[in-house]
Amino acid sequence: MITAELKKEYYRALLDKDTEYEGVFYVGVKTTGVFCRPTCPARKPKFDHCEFFESAQEALLASYRPCKRCCPLSHPNQVSELVQRLVKAVEENPEKRWTEKDFQELSVDASTARRQFKKRFGMTFVEYARARRMGLAMKQIREGGAVIDAQLSTGYESSSGFRDAFSRIMGAAPTLLGQSNILKASWLDTRLGPMIAIADEEALHLLEFLDRRGLEREVERLRQKTTSAIIPGETEPIRSIERELSQYFDGELKEFKTPVTFLGSPFQKSVWEVLRNISYGETRSYSDIARALGKPSAFRAVAQANGANQLAIIVPCHRVINSNGELGGYGGGLTRKKWLIDHEKQGVCIT
Ligand SMILES: [Zn+2]
Repeated sequence: MITAELKKEYYRALLDKDTEYEGVFYVGVKTTGVFCRPTCPARKPKFDHCEFFESAQEALLASYRPCKRCCPLSHPNQVSELVQRLVKAVEENPEKRWTEKDFQELSVDASTARRQFKKRFGMTFVEYARARRMGLAMKQIREGGAVIDAQLSTGYESSSGFRDAFSRIMGAAPTLLGQSNILKASWLDTRLGPMIAIADEEALHLLEFLDRRGLEREVERLRQKTTSAIIPGETEPIRSIERELSQYFDGELKEFKTPVTFLGSPFQKSVWEVLRNISYGETRSYSDIARALGKPSAFRAVAQANGANQLAIIVPCHRVINSNGELGGYGGGLTRKKWLIDHEKQGVCIT
């Protein structure tokens, strides 16, 4: 969180080109859409036009592109030719999804690129490209433009990557801003892959793996039911769940405390409450849950409510399996479900 105080300090450092602040903050210039390091030689923007970030990744996610003069993604003293070439390639085609084959075409070794990027920016090249892509998609959402207009105006030949990035994170049909409620959405990297967290200032509304089946519909429903606009950003519940998730994945956390809110029918909510009471490391069957609700024959409805859970991991629908011991379904994929169950069993053995 960058306080108003800190913003003033950063702005002073920016005017002074204070080298002590290298790597401490980056400044996005709202009027030009570029972001700079503190010592950029270009003419300094007005304070009101500055947006400050503490990492280059945040600036990228806020849809700023790297300044060509101060190259905020490069080490001040040296940057490899390889890294320069790849950053340029991303700027030429920011919506592209990179594969091994693309590296071959550029005569670049993927593992070298990964290593060099990680060293310079603390993220891999693929993460960099993704941050840039998401930044562009999010910018459209913030401005309320339709996806197709965005594609036309930026002249993308292929729309697939862009639409994919957009719809995956924010839903298929962008609506204009101007709704009274604002929800913030953040991208969280976890060891089981990226997740999206959506929250207001009080509670978390949604936590899902980015490749979850039907995520777009889910986000759209959330947007409509809460009559909210969803914009990129962070709130306290998002920061809290990010911390808790990393502890969970390290096997250090068994119960989530981040405040959540349930958006569903009374029956769904009752199912989710029961799910929350399944202890870490344990599993239950759909019929166990139905019995716990006093509706022993309702196991299909239970399975459905289980599938409609929008708070992955926190509401532990992964702990519900078939009566015969088979895994059953999981919106985030069975590999993840199995991993989560095994992970929790290990945690229980250690303690
Ligand atoms: Zn600059």
